[in-house]
Amino acid sequence: MPCMLHLASTNSGKLGEFRAAALAYDVLVEPLPDISQLPPCIEDGETFEANARKKALHYSSFTEHLVFADDSGICVDALGGAPGVYSARFAGPHSTDEANNHKLLVELEAISSRNPPDSRLHPLGAFHAHYECVVALARKGTLVALTEGRVEGGIITAPRGRGGFGYDPYFFYPPFGQTFAEISAEEKFAVSHRGIAFRLLLDRLRLL
Ligand code: IMP
Repeated sequence: MPCMLHLASTNSGKLGEFRAAALAYDVLVEPLPDISQLPPCIEDGETFEANARKKALHYSSFTEHLVFADDSGICVDALGGAPGVYSARFAGPHSTDEANNHKLLVELEAISSRNPPDSRLHPLGAFHAHYECVVALARKGTLVALTEGRVEGGIITAPRGRGGFGYDPYFFYPPFGQTFAEISAEEKFAVSHRGIAFRLLLDRLRLL
């Protein structure tokens, strides 16, 4: 009988990615039922780990099921790791991907004379960056497992591709010579921060 994990998120893009990857492990992923009716979890941690842990512990306290949550973002070296845990609201509360990307480019432009983009990452230059993701799994308010994934690349200043979400049109991945918005969801999940963290979690589950 397949193991069932409930995702503490309403993001349908994430759900689809997690579901597809879990199939190979005989694991079913379902959204946590009625999550929008539950008291919300305030994501005020200063690290991805703190926020992922907080969400998993919070939502798992309302159910008997295994619940997992992820927290992720992009960290740009020349900006001292920003936007980091503030990736979703970089341009302000409830900001859009467009506004966040615009702010990122404005901030990079401001520091580019001191910190020029690296032409080893992309022929026109790119700013060193990585995506990071922490996945936390919990049962009835107790942490069961915590895993982490990271993928390195560079921020380019002209967007490429229409896939993915968030910062993907600007995140150039040198091994593929493409941005994360130019590749398929499967190709992205095979190398992404979220894919790495989730596969580690599924491996861990096999040992439990
Ligand atoms: P959260 O994990 O849902 O809190 O997402 C954090 C934010 O980080 C997202 O809203 C995006 O702005 C950014 N982010 C995290 N993972 C990705 C990704 O795979 N592609 C593009 N942006 C991402």
